[in-house]
Amino acid sequence: MDTASCPRCHQPVNPQAVTCPHCRTQLKAYGHPGIPLHRATGEEYLCDSCIYHADDTCNFPQRPYAKECTLYQNIEAHELELQQQRDNNSFGVTFNNWVKRNQSLFLLLGLLVVCLLIALFSN
Ligand code: SF4
Ligand SMILES: [Zn+2]
Repeated sequence: MDTASCPRCHQPVNPQAVTCPHCRTQLKAYGHPGIPLHRATGEEYLCDSCIYHADDTCNFPQRPYAKECTLYQNIEAHELELQQQRDNNSFGVTFNNWVKRNQSLFLLLGLLVVCLLIALFSN
């Protein structure tokens, strides 16, 4: 991702920026570009859509009323990722099964190639 926008003033900002150059909103936690600070927009709390709230593994004191959080993980984004992983896995499984089913065919093809090579080089 090359562009990001400020959650408060919605101006484009450098994704590495620690504070928004337009409105000085803090964008990263602890002044560190590697730690994104998630911020609730509107009236909802971040925890409401956070996987760590859903699976009850968060022990932050601000839960369940966090409006800013460094660990926030969006449930929907997370599930989308899981779904994609599952799709990738099932493609891998299908491919493996297909290879297994056609193993003898591959063996035959391999033998054919070897025979051809032998024929070519023995001339
Ligand atoms: S990680 Fe942050 S947003 Fe998620 S439940 Fe904990 S306090 Fe809330
Ligand atoms: Zn801003």
